[in-house]
Amino acid sequence: MTSIAQCLFCKIIRGEIPSLKLIETSLSYSFLDINPLARGHALVIPKYHAEKLHELPDEYLADALPVAKKIAIAQGSENYNLLQNNGSIAHQFVGHVHFHVIPKPSDSDEEG
Ligand code: 5GP
Ligand code: ZN
Repeated sequence: MTSIAQCLFCKIIRGEIPSLKLIETSLSYSFLDINPLARGHALVIPKYHAEKLHELPDEYLADALPVAKKIAIAQGSENYNLLQNNGSIAHQFVGHVHFHVIPKPSDSDEEG
């Protein structure tokens, strides 16, 4: 398991690696994904180093989901994915719990 000192997302929370911050609360931090699958692709991470969802204290989970909801509202797309991977076989590459909020814009979202 990655240590807190070495964890990429813990470094982002501490400001040791720059990120494009969206919303920050006392328990969560959110920012734009460096390699977006769609414009506005965001990540929401708890300010607690747990690798997988089942290791995360409930209070952090309870804080992160409303942050994801606010981002989805701000993105303004009626179509989006909320994605959370656990374990390398399930395509988790960064060993710190994170939620992807990925807009799926329709043609009408792109107008204007
Ligand atoms: P996973 O596959 O682990 O669920 O997703 C990890 C996500 O973290 C990927 O979408 C990847 O683009 C993103 N990511 C990896 N390193 C960085 C980084 O240094 N900064 C930001 N903003 N996103 C990152
Ligand atoms: Zn971490």
